[in-house]
Formats: sequence, structure tokens, C-alpha cells
Amino acid sequence: MTDLQHPAPQRVCPICKAPTELNNEAFPFCGPRCRLIDLNQWMEGRYTVTRPLDPQDIDEGQTGDANAAARP
Ligand SMILES: [Zn+2]
Repeated sequence: MTDLQHPAPQRVCPICKAPTELNNEAFPFCGPRCRLIDLNQWMEGRYTVTRPLDPQDIDEGQTGDANAAARP
């Protein structure tokens, strides 16, 4: 069981799926442009990710529910 039976799979850019090489300066991307695109996507995903709930958030939510229930 060695990888010799299977040659290394073709490396492709995760952004545009273009073939890329290990010695590519932008590896694993095909070029600096796709590397930037991936970076932007990563940052956007990080900024839009839901932050973990804090106990304070739960307390505020319960207070809001209580007020809503107290309304006629
Ligand atoms: Zn690319």
C-alpha cells in the first residue's frame, strides 16, 4: 500500500479549478489573484459567522420574552 501506485493527483486551484503546481508561488492557488479571492472569501465568512452565545445574550432574550408575555 504505497502512493506509488497512484500518482499524485492533479493539483487544481480551489478557486477556479485551474491546474496549479507545487512550485507555484501562489500555491495552492493558480495565481495571486485567486489567492486574494480566497482570502476575501475567508474574511467575509469570518465576519458573517454567528458569534457564540453569551450568557448575557440569553438573559436579555429571557427579559424580552417576559416583557412580551406581560403585554396584553
Ligand atoms: Zn485560480
